[in-house]
Amino acid sequence: MSERDFSSVKRVVVKVGTNLISRSGEIIIERLEAIVADLVSLKKSGYSVLLVTSGAVGLGAGEISLAGRVKGVVMRQTCAAIGQPILMEYYRAAFARHSQVCAQILVTTNELNDRTTYVNLMNSVNSLLDHGVIPVFNENDTVSTDEVGTAVGDNDRLSAYIANKVDAQLLILLTDIEGLYTEDPKHNPRAEFLSEVPEITPRVLASAGSAGSVHSTGGMKTKLIASRIASYGGCSTIIASGYEKDILVRIVRGEDVGTHFHPLKRMNQRTRWILHSDTSATIWIDEGAVKALRNHKSLLPSGIVRIEGVFRAGEVVMINDIAKAVPYYNSTEIVVSIGKHSSAMRAELNHSRPDVIFRPEDIVFLDHAE
Ligand code: GLU
Repeated sequence: MSERDFSSVKRVVVKVGTNLISRSGEIIIERLEAIVADLVSLKKSGYSVLLVTSGAVGLGAGEISLAGRVKGVVMRQTCAAIGQPILMEYYRAAFARHSQVCAQILVTTNELNDRTTYVNLMNSVNSLLDHGVIPVFNENDTVSTDEVGTAVGDNDRLSAYIANKVDAQLLILLTDIEGLYTEDPKHNPRAEFLSEVPEITPRVLASAGSAGSVHSTGGMKTKLIASRIASYGGCSTIIASGYEKDILVRIVRGEDVGTHFHPLKRMNQRTRWILHSDTSATIWIDEGAVKALRNHKSLLPSGIVRIEGVFRAGEVVMINDIAKAVPYYNSTEIVVSIGKHSSAMRAELNHSRPDVIFRPEDIVFLDHAE
């Protein structure tokens, strides 16, 4: 199989950046229409197409004549609330011109991390796709903020999470540059273009600056992180220029355009869910317990040193700074059982859950993930 053989791709997630479709708070309508036409061609060639689009904050700022970068959480929320319907207005009109229906889905990490809301979300996404509708995602910036811990923060990573959730085989990040260079080509004319990236090594990561623009939060760095997240789901990523004509169709045909980040062996959904969930608490364990976990053993209460933070049973927590896991017990229950024998814990808590904190299938080590 050639590196650019996308013949088995069925679901494609396309991410469009703020810079591509807007400038100084104004939409660039020809660009948006060209991208929509390309998305429609992709769909008509038989792919399930999902779009993740930025631009709400910038367009909102433009609408209330706010110049420069949107500063502060509340202002960002305000601009997103104003700009999101404007953004969708343009997309709806552009898709309608091709007799296509699109739908808006605004997400926060709540929907992506929580198992129940996540299943709910996937049911609606699948139903939309079954009805031939193009789902258009954005982060719900008006309600999700870092302060309450529900923000992804940039649509590059958001699109990778979505690609993983919907089991997409290809993620296309459209931007204003043709792909990844060894160095910033704007500053170094000798920078080399990278067409294939089999693995996102620290060296590859270092080649990306953190540049964004006035209204976008992403840059090459978040795109590389996104590619890595996608790769764990067995999903290829292409970073390519949204200025090139028919770029999407050319990419799925396997043309040598953009930078191709190779997929890794696909982790199962649960492993990926554990890996990509945000955590707000830590179970600190001793050396012996670390060794046991590495040898595919369960975590016993006797191996716990202390609990940091509060969590529910079934919520993803950190294990020291080396792994993420899903305990069967909540933080209060675990605190009372610290250092105790498993059977004592079971007798004390008096219920039918396992007499271990979690089993080997409930833990994912971060070694290969970070
Ligand atoms: N969600 C933000 C918006 O629509 C963009 C985030 C980003 O730039 O990645 O404006």
